[in-house]
Amino acid sequence: MNIKEEERRARLLKSRAERLPDIKKQFEEAQKRNFNSNFGPGGKDEKLVAAKPAKKAAKPAKSAKAPKAQKETAKSKAKTEAEQRKVNLSVNTKKGEMVHHQRMLSQDVNAQATQHIIGVPVNKSRYNGYGGEQITNAKLKSMRPDPDSVRIIPIGGVGEFGIGKNMTIIEYKSEMIVVDMGVLFAGEDYPGVNYMIPDIKYLEDNMAKVKAICFTHAHLDHIGACRHLLPKFSQFVPIYGTDFTIGMIKKQMSELEDVPEMNYIAVEPLKHEKIQVSEHMSVEFIHTLHSIPGNASIVVRTPNGTIYLSGDWRHEENPIERQTDYERIDEIVKNEGIDLMLNESTNIDSPGHHPHSEFDVGDNLGKVMDHYVNGRVIISCFSSQIARIGLILKEAHERGRKVAFSGFSMINNVEVALRAKAIKVPKDTIVKMEDIVKLPDEQVCIVCTGSQGEMNAVLNRMVTGAHKYIKIKATDTIVFSSNPIPGNEPHVVNTVDGLLREGAQVIQNGKTHLTNIGPLHLSGHAYYEDHVDFVTRLHPTNYLPYHGEFYMLEHNAEMAENVLGIPRERILVSDDGDIIEFTKDKKIRKAGRISVGNKLYDDADQPVHEAVVKDRIHISREGIFVIVLTLNKKTGHLMKTPDIVSRAFIYLDNSEELIGKIRHYLRQKTDKSISTDPEMKVLKEEIKEDITHILFDATGHTPIVIPVINKV
Ligand SMILES: [Zn+2]
Ligand SMILES: [Zn+2]
Repeated sequence: MNIKEEERRARLLKSRAERLPDIKKQFEEAQKRNFNSNFGPGGKDEKLVAAKPAKKAAKPAKSAKAPKAQKETAKSKAKTEAEQRKVNLSVNTKKGEMVHHQRMLSQDVNAQATQHIIGVPVNKSRYNGYGGEQITNAKLKSMRPDPDSVRIIPIGGVGEFGIGKNMTIIEYKSEMIVVDMGVLFAGEDYPGVNYMIPDIKYLEDNMAKVKAICFTHAHLDHIGACRHLLPKFSQFVPIYGTDFTIGMIKKQMSELEDVPEMNYIAVEPLKHEKIQVSEHMSVEFIHTLHSIPGNASIVVRTPNGTIYLSGDWRHEENPIERQTDYERIDEIVKNEGIDLMLNESTNIDSPGHHPHSEFDVGDNLGKVMDHYVNGRVIISCFSSQIARIGLILKEAHERGRKVAFSGFSMINNVEVALRAKAIKVPKDTIVKMEDIVKLPDEQVCIVCTGSQGEMNAVLNRMVTGAHKYIKIKATDTIVFSSNPIPGNEPHVVNTVDGLLREGAQVIQNGKTHLTNIGPLHLSGHAYYEDHVDFVTRLHPTNYLPYHGEFYMLEHNAEMAENVLGIPRERILVSDDGDIIEFTKDKKIRKAGRISVGNKLYDDADQPVHEAVVKDRIHISREGIFVIVLTLNKKTGHLMKTPDIVSRAFIYLDNSEELIGKIRHYLRQKTDKSISTDPEMKVLKEEIKEDITHILFDATGHTPIVIPVINKV
């Protein structure tokens, strides 16, 4: 080793020594952090963390100032008594193995059940506002808010798993505007949970500040949480949206038991009205195109500048609906400029422009009707695709087919669309389901839900024969006028397979080469090049990607910097709960966090507690095992053979040997416990641990074990 190398090593050691206190501090901080609450003090798995519990149990004695000697004797007495009650389990596995299994399981369950929890998320993106340096809680606390800034706070909709739960607050001094209140569908990681809504504690603490609630459009990821959240607001707060959007919200609210009186105000975007919602802020709705009627973006004028919230949008050269109000957008850009643009990110990963229009989809649906002229045509699409439904009605009418709608949301949406005049219906085309089945097959067209393969939706019920009016037959043609949402693919496959088994013809979007008919769907969100064009058009000073998972936000930010040349410090990839300050000198910066989160609901709209989700996951993996012991109150003897219940674990009839072993153990255990007469809680805990060990030894699993002891 030469001198140079030695020098280098010495330098390294020195710098490490200098950094050591810091590293140690960081390590201690990390130790303090409660990564897995189940293992923490008071957590349900606290016991699993080594043998500490015994010590802790003795602690209260100390606080009671018991003499040391006495405490020691009590401790050793309890120990010897426990020793006396010990039963030889005759197992081959060590207890440590079981504890390890339990710990791993608990970690898995926690990881699965807490994906929705938003604390201080990891965000080392170079667009995080701090050059990629992670912001700590301490740093956040030390940040001084700028009282003159406009604050933009995403409560939901950015960087989560799955797009949804969109909700944003714009705040200035004591005035707040809320934009959208969406749901997020939970997915299979959350057994028994249907959807999640944003936790709006921050708003609940600031109710008096809320001056207006605005909705961009009526998709559920923007209005789905209304029935839970709107009733919390004052009935005087104005609720703005277009006619169709307000109609959909009212419909949703009408399903509540107590329908609250709310202050709904329908807006006509083409009037370009500046609605002064508070002393310092106004909103203007701008008509934009998406895959639902009454879609809008929102311009918020604040003392610090003009903010453009894109909502959801797509660009079409040849739209069915009225074209996006580009004239108005251009006017605002020219006269005022856009100081901050919030832009959705859904399809940022789709290259190019939209290759076709909604008209092409309509034509192709007509082609299907021509091609399969003798049979029924059943078209499945999203129930909010009102323009497409309008096209289906037209194509069907031209071919002498009648149309019936099936599916709760489908019928609801069409009703609202009719009332809001968002759909044109050719005369004598719509008939009721019960009437259409009486017509000859070649005159039948059915529009239904279930394009995502949902188990209980119409299409699957038609396959299984559970549908009241329709059973799929070999002459039917089923069109999937949609794409599977990521995660739903296996369900869609399942539905398609079921249809094919019945001999039906299935035509799916994206599989044009099979039938030569397509495209049959048009996504509602702009593609990459559409974003490039549109953001160029708006020329915003600051840019905030939203409505997307983290990678989408990141890719959107990259586009803004690399393609459009927006400086990096004017782009922010943020997380739910971040407070983004838009300052007087028109800069954006992250300055603190509010507490945000999710509330879970089941399909009966009832809240589901996180602990319940964890139990469900645990049970789904390992099962549950209940033992019922009946002891004689006086003698402590077992009065009868213990009852054993196993659910989602082992099938008892096939497990006689194991059950015999457990019964033998329980007899020994209760006999040995008579002389020491332990507290019920202690005995239960010991039995639980032993049984878990026996079960783990026999099966490699640790179900939830519940001992029940009755004394009679
Ligand atoms: Zn949408
Ligand atoms: Zn959306």
